[in-house]
Amino acid sequence: MIKKNAKDLDNNFRFEISKKIGAKSLLNCIQCGVCSSGCTVTEYVDMQPHRVVASCLLGLKDEVLSSQAIWTCSLCHRCTERCPKGVDYSFILALLRNLAVKEGNIPKEYSDTIRTISKNGFVIPYTGGMKITIDRRRDKMGLPKIITPNLDEINFIIKETGLGDLIKEDNKKEVKK
Ligand code: SF4
Ligand code: SF4
Repeated sequence: MIKKNAKDLDNNFRFEISKKIGAKSLLNCIQCGVCSSGCTVTEYVDMQPHRVVASCLLGLKDEVLSSQAIWTCSLCHRCTERCPKGVDYSFILALLRNLAVKEGNIPKEYSDTIRTISKNGFVIPYTGGMKITIDRRRDKMGLPKIITPNLDEINFIIKETGLGDLIKEDNKKEVKK
């Protein structure tokens, strides 16, 4: 159970999120729990969807932004489709991820993936033995050869979009999943 002094709550947090989402605001939530009961990853998260919404409403900003729940979501949108009050939870999660990243909270898997893309242009390492295996299998299946991406262009995009900031060696606040 989270224990916190009232002075440590961020009472503006719910409005910060709400003004970005308009009519599908979390302010309409009645805590019915329908989002959590149908969530496809509910058993794997440290905070179920209705509890994330409640925490946002209560101003538990730090707890929400450092939770793994906001990163484990598969963005299947089922919660949004089922919510009786029209709360767009999956969109709220995307907002929460953006806010978490701004605070330097990002799961190691995400920053590792960016590093891999930056180094070889692919989400998975396409070098050495892995490259030989992939090429052989593709050849067997009659698939065309993989074109090596232009790393200069990829790293330009990584830099310009600010993604590069996420893979700095001194980023110590990676979220452990
Ligand atoms: S389904 Fe909608 S109203 Fe119900 S708890 Fe989830 S967000 Fe709130
Ligand atoms: S969008 Fe995320 S939170 Fe919503 S039901 Fe799917 S996995 Fe669960």
